[in-house]
Amino acid sequence: MGQLNKREWESRNSLKEKKPYVYEKIQKFDEKIKNGESIAIIQFQYNYKCNFRCEHCSVKRFQGKNNKRSFTIEDVKNLSKQADELGLARFVITGGEPMTFQDFDELVAAIDPQKFYINCDSNGWYLDEAKIQHLKDIGVDRIQLSLDSLNAEEHDAFRHAPGSHARAMAAVDYAQKIGMDIYIQTVVTKERLHSDEFIEFIEYFNNKGVGVFVSYAKPVGAWEGCFDSLVTKEDFEYMHELEKKYRVYTHLTPAYGLNMGCIAVKGMFSVTQYGDVLPCPYIHVSIGNVFEEPLKDIIKRGLDIKFFGEHVDTCLIAEDRDFIHNYIEKKVYNKPLPVSYDEVFTEEDKTKVPFNKSDDLFQK
Ligand code: SF4
Repeated sequence: MGQLNKREWESRNSLKEKKPYVYEKIQKFDEKIKNGESIAIIQFQYNYKCNFRCEHCSVKRFQGKNNKRSFTIEDVKNLSKQADELGLARFVITGGEPMTFQDFDELVAAIDPQKFYINCDSNGWYLDEAKIQHLKDIGVDRIQLSLDSLNAEEHDAFRHAPGSHARAMAAVDYAQKIGMDIYIQTVVTKERLHSDEFIEFIEYFNNKGVGVFVSYAKPVGAWEGCFDSLVTKEDFEYMHELEKKYRVYTHLTPAYGLNMGCIAVKGMFSVTQYGDVLPCPYIHVSIGNVFEEPLKDIIKRGLDIKFFGEHVDTCLIAEDRDFIHNYIEKKVYNKPLPVSYDEVFTEEDKTKVPFNKSDDLFQK
């Protein structure tokens, strides 16, 4: 089926050595896609606790006190078991800021580093050399570090955290010294995408041997109602050109030799602190709750909704103005989050041509 590029081969080979069980699961991904099954990364919003108050925070409305049931370590073990049985192989621990979790080590052990490739998001504040070494020792495979700019003042202002830029930049060097895989995650508005600063940003990290993952600005969370910063299809073309030149990626970048388009549900979903499964971290609609029903049924429900079950050649929540207007603005804004799938999607939104039957899947 799909052809792996050189970097994908290298990372699979190192996984084969380090985590053979995970490697075997990933080897079966081609077949799973062919069967129309999800190969999702589980973006696990284990706890919304955070030491920052960033301007672009996408989980702002999930934070704060409530009486809902939250994940325990036993619940994490159960989620991990179900995910393993479904052949899923990757978790991203996120929040909030994972480095503020008192039970972070137990959390990693409960997910089980032998069974999963584990990424961890961080703003870098607590990532000194000893901490990164510790993360490596307990089985974390990669740090995904958030950085907004090469300009320290801008970054610190955006995050309302003086000194945060310096700490994050130091974390990159520590990670490289220790041999911990690290990626930079950065949010890009339409304006920033076309700026010289953005190219300098990519070049700076690529020259250090570090890849840059780009998240397009989305009109949710702290940016609810901000439509001027959104990208367009032409902007995707521009990004596609950058991908040829640099180590820069988005959710729409083909992986495993396949063009999956939007990866919501099929290639990624989020699980909130309260057990709700969201099709993507930015689409605040619950397609089910893992405290109430099996993960398998929830994924199936997600794939039965056309936006997630069909091949969608755009980022729904960053670019698709119809989706944003008809489903998010009209049905999600101003409601307690997450909104249940049956309040947002109707019979008309059922999947007609599953993504594995789409010719677009094989075109790059
Ligand atoms: S809607 Fe956009 S951010 Fe969400 S999974 Fe799809 S491509 Fe990614």
